[in-house]
Amino acid sequence: MKAWEANVRRVEPYVPGEQPRGDRLIKLNTNENPYPPAPGVAWVLHELDAAALRKYPDPTATALVQCLAEHYGVGEDQVFVGVGSDDVIAMAFLTFFHSGKPILFPDVTYSFYPVWAKLFDIPYRTPALDAGFRICPQDYYGDNGGIIFPNPNAPTGILMPLEQIEEIVRRNPSVIVIVDEAYIDFGGTSAIRLVERYDNLLVVQTFSKSRAMAGMRIGYAIGQPELIQALCDVKFSFNSYTMNATSLALGVEAVKDEAYFCETTAKIIRTRERAKEQLRELGFSFPDSSANFIFASHERVPAGELFEALRQNQIYVRYFNQPRLNNYLRISVGTDEEMDALFAFLKEYLWKA
Ligand code: PMP
Repeated sequence: MKAWEANVRRVEPYVPGEQPRGDRLIKLNTNENPYPPAPGVAWVLHELDAAALRKYPDPTATALVQCLAEHYGVGEDQVFVGVGSDDVIAMAFLTFFHSGKPILFPDVTYSFYPVWAKLFDIPYRTPALDAGFRICPQDYYGDNGGIIFPNPNAPTGILMPLEQIEEIVRRNPSVIVIVDEAYIDFGGTSAIRLVERYDNLLVVQTFSKSRAMAGMRIGYAIGQPELIQALCDVKFSFNSYTMNATSLALGVEAVKDEAYFCETTAKIIRTRERAKEQLRELGFSFPDSSANFIFASHERVPAGELFEALRQNQIYVRYFNQPRLNNYLRISVGTDEEMDALFAFLKEYLWKA
């Protein structure tokens, strides 16, 4: 062992979904939007002046903060933006989960949460989902150092009703409750409307899913001004210029086009509902998803086998080889054509299997 090795921080990193290369594949493994961003985004990108990139971007990301504040009807001092919601949530862990008491998140959820907790030395407990993969709100009523969960949850897609979320927030006035709404636009009501009544609630959203801009890396949090100020103080102690000039310009443009946003999210929801019917007919069962993915298990054929067979045919879905999840595939909702190709393959494969 080298002398310095004992002083190196060792972590077990989060493993993101595969980003395979090639145009002939069907990519349903990372919950990306199958449609392009709003048309204005391409136009603004085309008009961007490369010479302007010599300057640092606006450290307060004012244009994007302003347009999000207007869009959600909150104050500019209630919006924090970051490099994808991953960055926003990491900053929130660092800022709000500082009591030394264990924070709480479900045992089956976004697998980045335990990675941040370990990275920042935050103790945590993971209450188990019930037999139907639902979060049990009562598990979050006891003493804790903070709470985070996605709504809808990932990878189950199950939506928690807003009243249950409010009860969790109401019963935890001395800690911050973070609701990670990465998938909320595909069928839920946002907890943003609760923010004015609860100073311990932080709602996080992203441009990566419903706004089809995962490649741009934009996320944001909405909460009362004290929370946003605390987040900004930590951010400015870490990296002043998290948001690059291009993200700021394109992000603003994406928020402007509400009609396109409504049209594409409605299309994805329609395809998802059709996919549920088809999967059921093929012998799959799954929790009822309100997200842009379906977490499905086949009555006969193990998920690991299906995952490999699909992969060999250039159809990528996500498989989590861990207890409780290892007989499920998380299938992102693509275009109707992509889903039809998936179903055609499955039909043939399952008939032979
Ligand atoms: N939260 C959840 C529940 C997610 O599934 C994801 C996507 N992997 C994220 C947050 C992060 O998304 P992004 O950083 O692209 O905004």
